[in-house]
Amino acid sequence: MVENKVMDKLVSLCKRRGFIFQSSDIYGGLESTYDYGPLGAELKNNIKQLWWQDMVTSRPDVVGMDASILMNPKVWEASGHLSEFHDPMVDCKNCKARFRSDQMDLDNNCPNCGVQDWTEARQFNLMLKTHYGPSEDSSSVIYLRPETAQGIFVNFANAQSTARMKLPFGIAQIGKAFRNEITTGNFLFRSREFEQMEMEFFVKPDETGEWLDYWTDARMSWYKGLGIREERLKLRPHGDDELAHYAAACFDVEYQFPFGWSELEGIADRGTFDLDQHTEHSGKKLTWFDSKDNKHITPAVVEASAGVDRTVLTILVDAYHEEEVKGENRVVLRLSPKVAPTTVAVFPLVNRDGMPEIGEKIVESLRNNFAAFFDAGGSIGRRYRRQDEAGTPYGVTVDSDTLEDQTVTVRERDNMVQERVAIDQLPSYFREKIR
Ligand SMILES: [Zn+2]
Repeated sequence: MVENKVMDKLVSLCKRRGFIFQSSDIYGGLESTYDYGPLGAELKNNIKQLWWQDMVTSRPDVVGMDASILMNPKVWEASGHLSEFHDPMVDCKNCKARFRSDQMDLDNNCPNCGVQDWTEARQFNLMLKTHYGPSEDSSSVIYLRPETAQGIFVNFANAQSTARMKLPFGIAQIGKAFRNEITTGNFLFRSREFEQMEMEFFVKPDETGEWLDYWTDARMSWYKGLGIREERLKLRPHGDDELAHYAAACFDVEYQFPFGWSELEGIADRGTFDLDQHTEHSGKKLTWFDSKDNKHITPAVVEASAGVDRTVLTILVDAYHEEEVKGENRVVLRLSPKVAPTTVAVFPLVNRDGMPEIGEKIVESLRNNFAAFFDAGGSIGRRYRRQDEAGTPYGVTVDSDTLEDQTVTVRERDNMVQERVAIDQLPSYFREKIR
């Protein structure tokens, strides 16, 4: 399989099966914005739930929150985003196309029109602006948050005191963020609207090193637990020249996409930068009282910041397989049952002799514990192929033997092995398989 065609094939499968559509499709779309369809929304929700379970619900030392996308503009002054959060850009004077000047050789001609006539490079702030309230003057300008993290930092004291948390502890949230990127692309990988899963872990400043180690290990394990191939995952330390303005050290979790190794998550030592800045700009103390040493300290922060959409893309890319089966090409998404939108698809072999009714009853009996789906449309081979492309791990077929002995055929997606299972054993059978 030629690597650079994989993305095209995946985009097409995502549309065909209802994972991901171009946004505003009937109007010709909007560049680099996407809508999650019926299967995509399930996949995305499964990923977010697994993250929340791993990072919040299962831990005594992390609490969750859900902050507004819109915040007081002073937040972005304090965080440094107004002054620091920009990329250098150049425009082609001939065709007006805009590029990142740090990613271009300006001795070359414009890749868009072939002419060489560049503007001076200048800084472009990446925050998306809008106006708040009815007036549209400069006093009403606010920004869509470029990261969810600041909603956590400004609520540090609220969350810490109400949940009565002691260091070290974390605050986590999942939510949308926006960046007015100069260049977007690679499908879901870089878009201007995206969703983050961020956890800020507050520690005593002399303990940041050990917690940075702890969280890089924990986060790598999480990705492996989603069924992503280990040889396509790596942890890459940032060089000093690529650290963000707030970070003292940073590791990226990277995945080997068809377009190269790229970042899924950043795990960073943000030091006391954010709480110091917000203390200075707001005049409010953002400290924690250490009763052992009898003094107030400003905690340092170790952040684990992951992209939801990038995780979705990684899981889809990693699961995409083509293989030849009996002379025919089979496309299959080898999704882990933990994230697959549908766990079990139930098919009546033919639409008569009571088979559809039995199939519907089976779906009803499974629905409380598994994402079960009933499909009676088209030949059985066609239905298998549809579910292979949807990444459904198990297929259950009701056939004429079922009418005699109350058993069904269970087909495994990946090896296509089939076995007979009694209908009343199905829930325990799948529970055992999916653990
Ligand atoms: Zn041009």
